[in-house]
Amino acid sequence: MISIITPCFNEEDVLNAFYDEIQKVMKKFDFELIFVDDGSQDRTLHILQELGNKDQRVRYLSFSRNFGKEAAMLAGLTYARGEAAVIMDSDLQHPPSMIPKMIEAYQEGYDQVIAKRNRKDEKWTRSFTAKLYYKLINHFVDHITLTDGVGDFRLLSRRAIDALLALSEYNRFSKGLFSWIGFKEHLLEYENVDRALGQSKWTFFKLLNYGIDGIISFNNRPLRVAIYMGLFTMSIDLLYVLYILIKTIVHGVDVPGYVTIISAVLLLGGIQMLFLGVIGEYIGRIYYEAKKRPHYVIAEDNVSGQIKKQQQK
Ligand code: UDP
Ligand code: MG
Repeated sequence: MISIITPCFNEEDVLNAFYDEIQKVMKKFDFELIFVDDGSQDRTLHILQELGNKDQRVRYLSFSRNFGKEAAMLAGLTYARGEAAVIMDSDLQHPPSMIPKMIEAYQEGYDQVIAKRNRKDEKWTRSFTAKLYYKLINHFVDHITLTDGVGDFRLLSRRAIDALLALSEYNRFSKGLFSWIGFKEHLLEYENVDRALGQSKWTFFKLLNYGIDGIISFNNRPLRVAIYMGLFTMSIDLLYVLYILIKTIVHGVDVPGYVTIISAVLLLGGIQMLFLGVIGEYIGRIYYEAKKRPHYVIAEDNVSGQIKKQQQK
């Protein structure tokens, strides 16, 4: 059996179409469809209840509030019963027609079958920043490689799922975690599709924060950069002090120096603030990890038998 996991946040417009599509492409397979309602405020949950009543392969979990897509994917994986799971968006931007091809590759022995989106027809600014970002992050981050155009749309074998579930960190940067667990990977490409209906939840700042998350989640190199930068400014400083000293000895005291002083103060202040921020980021993460809060709270579901069992464990 294959589990298809799909997080949904305010997706009332597309859910039925999504269900129909899955139904169509999965005719030949045994599957369960797990919807994770990430605290939607529209009729998403209502539609899921209807689907669940109509089709017993449809299972849903509904969070008590919006916990984010990462939490939703984690919940889906936790309750998946299949021998493999496909994670995909519910807005039909991840074409369901890819699933049979992914299953085929899985049967050939791949543990992760990754669907890669080409960036055709995308605004060049978006694809350009993406390219730059991946260059940067792969340079900065250890142990994992991130690929442009690769998102969360993928099939995971049971052992890959279990490996992911064993990572209990609170700050989940899935793109990185998928790469971190390793296993044999297979890439399949698909054409970029525009969102069918509804709106994307990504704003510029969300993307920026996501980008920073990616860098901070997987290494402490930014802290290392702070050390190098400190050493660098210190040596410049020492040279400059030496220069001033000699100048004063040779030419006597030279009072005007406002520009040098103010620029040194501002520059150093700026660098210090920047790295205080970097250190703060790490401490903030430690703080969240230390609390060991659950990733999500489930308000309603049609899989409670299984949830109770899991909680008793
Ligand atoms: N999503 C979610 N929680 C959120 C934001 C998004 O579960 O807080 C789901 C959303 O319903 C969709 C998927 O994550 O199925 C991708 O979201 P979106 O389409 O907004 O992102 P984009 O495709 O623009 O990257
Ligand atoms: Mg989308």
